[in-house]
Amino acid sequence: MKTYKCAVCGHSSLLFDVVDFNKSCEEIRGYYLPLLGHGVYYVRCQACKYTFAPEFSAWTDQDFVNMIYNDSYVEVDPDYLNIIPKGNAEALNSIFGHYRNDIKHLDYGGGNGVLSGCLESFGWSSTSYDPFPANDAKLNGLGTFNLISAFEVFEHVPDPHVMMETIEKLLSGPDAVVFFSTLLSDGHINDGERLNWWYVAPRNGHIGLHSSQSLAVLGERYGMKLHSLNSGTHIFYRALPGWATRLIQN
Ligand SMILES: [Zn+2]
Repeated sequence: MKTYKCAVCGHSSLLFDVVDFNKSCEEIRGYYLPLLGHGVYYVRCQACKYTFAPEFSAWTDQDFVNMIYNDSYVEVDPDYLNIIPKGNAEALNSIFGHYRNDIKHLDYGGGNGVLSGCLESFGWSSTSYDPFPANDAKLNGLGTFNLISAFEVFEHVPDPHVMMETIEKLLSGPDAVVFFSTLLSDGHINDGERLNWWYVAPRNGHIGLHSSQSLAVLGERYGMKLHSLNSGTHIFYRALPGWATRLIQN
């Protein structure tokens, strides 16, 4: 039986299930794309419960552009251009806005820059950076930040360690916060059941699904603690700056 190395913890893992490439998040709204006939296999790590599709680790940026982030991507993620980034900016401003003068913010995976633009209009210092397609020249000139947001990024990356190494380089010091969103698979992906959770969606580029355990393991590798604000919003941190301490208070 073929084994795969868990992309988070390195544990030897087995195939878990297969879904059609056109499985998309819009299925939660009753919108189904026709089957493409391209089976995407997912592996589930029995140690940390990370569920991922190994196929994509061999893809180039151009493959992702051709097959996923193409002109029809908007059909499976209709609000991604404006509505979602504006909502996320408002959420960040409602949590941290009072302390914005103490914060140098980077929106990692910021796409078209709407979120950062919105925060700047609220008086923040905010920079947008998208790691896709890879752009080392831009990355090296960015500087460092004490608040890095990454909305709907973690489930899109084929190699979580490449992402974390990049984010780590962008953090200004030990008292910085990574504020990110990704839905936890806990209770949604279960041994002995088919992979039918709506968030497992190759067509949306959802190729790596985290459990609370896999996120904690990932953070630990970089000396960071995990705190989940809810099942979809989390922070990584080493030491919390004063303006973020209330995030871990009940
Ligand atoms: Zn693992």
